[in-house]
Amino acid sequence: MRYSAFSIFKQALAGNLGWKPAWREPQPKPHYDVIIVGGGGHGLATAYYLAKEFGVRNIAVVEKGYLGSGNVGRNTTIVRSNYMLPGNEPFYEFSLKLWEGLEQELNYNVMLSQRGIISLYHNDSQRDHYTRRGNAMMMEGVAAEQLDRDTLKKMLPFLNFDHARFPIIGGLLQKRAGTARHDAVAWGFARGADRLGVDLIQNCEVTGIRRESGVVTGVETTKGFIGCNKLALAAAGNTSRVGEMAGLKLPIESHVLQAFVTEGLKPCIDHVITYGAGHFYISQSDKGGLVFGAEIDGYSSYAQRGNLATAEHVMEEGVTMIPGLSRVRVLRAWGGVMDMSMDGSPIIDRTPIDNLYLNCGWCYGGFKATPASGFCFAYLIAKGESHHVARALRLDRFERGFPIDEAGVGTQPNLH
Ligand SMILES: Cc1cc2nc3c(=O)[nH]c(=O)nc-3n(C[C@H](O)[C@H](O)[C@H](O)COP(=O)(O)OP(=O)(O)OC[C@H]3O[C@@H](n4cnc5c(N)ncnc54)[C@H](O)[C@@H]3O)c2cc1C
Repeated sequence: MRYSAFSIFKQALAGNLGWKPAWREPQPKPHYDVIIVGGGGHGLATAYYLAKEFGVRNIAVVEKGYLGSGNVGRNTTIVRSNYMLPGNEPFYEFSLKLWEGLEQELNYNVMLSQRGIISLYHNDSQRDHYTRRGNAMMMEGVAAEQLDRDTLKKMLPFLNFDHARFPIIGGLLQKRAGTARHDAVAWGFARGADRLGVDLIQNCEVTGIRRESGVVTGVETTKGFIGCNKLALAAAGNTSRVGEMAGLKLPIESHVLQAFVTEGLKPCIDHVITYGAGHFYISQSDKGGLVFGAEIDGYSSYAQRGNLATAEHVMEEGVTMIPGLSRVRVLRAWGGVMDMSMDGSPIIDRTPIDNLYLNCGWCYGGFKATPASGFCFAYLIAKGESHHVARALRLDRFERGFPIDEAGVGTQPNLH
């Protein structure tokens, strides 16, 4: 069923009784060409592009909960491509370009809002860093703009410009960045994949990976054994657990990251704003709630909930940046499990095990990567080689000495 203004009108006249479910609820078949573990953004996008672009149709996405129950439905919805290193920037820019056509591509409103992201800086060395980052972006053909303090004061008068320790002296703007409605992205890719014949199997946990003579032959699940020619892992925060089922020890730590939403306010924050003195980021949703978050909780966990000490820390950062925030009530908070890699950059690669493919290491930033990650992972699975924008995102880059250390903090996931 195609969605259009006409279909809304037609359904309204018919009492809205003719809408069809957005996807089927199939039972698993005994065997698939490709099984993807994880019905988050990346797993669903991979299935969609495999079917759409690479003609592989006999695919199952196996999800232990419901589609979108993981990080894809828990993030703070920021979409951007303001990265610095050559291993990352072309990949994230490819992703942003896919975002720009995604609603037409999927015939689904993912509410992409290119409202711009402003990264604030507070001292000379940070200004140098953001100047370098802006230049690196422009060298890859991505527009970036430096905003001085006076311009920022006119644009964002509610910020605390004269904080004694963290005065705001400028910001880096990427105008094409913004937000998208997170769970609509999962639903859009799910519906698109389903229409191309992909089986989306919910409430089906993968509990084991079967190998014969070293080759992966399928997965043990709570709905029985399902065979496959190729197995693709897109389990985000549970990557290390799923990897372990195949005997893989991966350079990934799982950490909790929290998000917060306030009561609805009239439009007051027009951009996404990030705070250089901490890791605080904020935007306003279309419903009016302020959506914000900051650092990970700082200890390893597989629980989708965070601790109060971090909540307090996040609020403090927010109020330091926007004093008026102290008078707004927080309505909701939740946590997601982040697959933190050792250099803060992702992995899209084959594994040392035949027929086993890996997509992980998304840290805080995998939502914006969803379309490119799906496309490049599908490319790898279908063609057996990396897409050119994902060539640096190799699993063995740590042992070869080629980490993509975007934050410049080395192997410390808590600092990425
Ligand atoms: C609070 C928070 C804020 C964030 N903010 C942003 C942001 O603003 N911008 C941004 O770009 N990124 C952000 N992120 C990161 C982003 O959400 C993730 O990097 C991205 O969603 C991860 O990919 P995914 O969507 O495939 O993950 P998920 O949605 O977590 O998908 C993985 C799926 O695998 C399933 N699974 C796991 N184990 C099994 C198993 N054994 N069997 C079957 N299924 C299994 C899980 O149930 C899950 O549904 C944020 C994350 C959080 C938690």
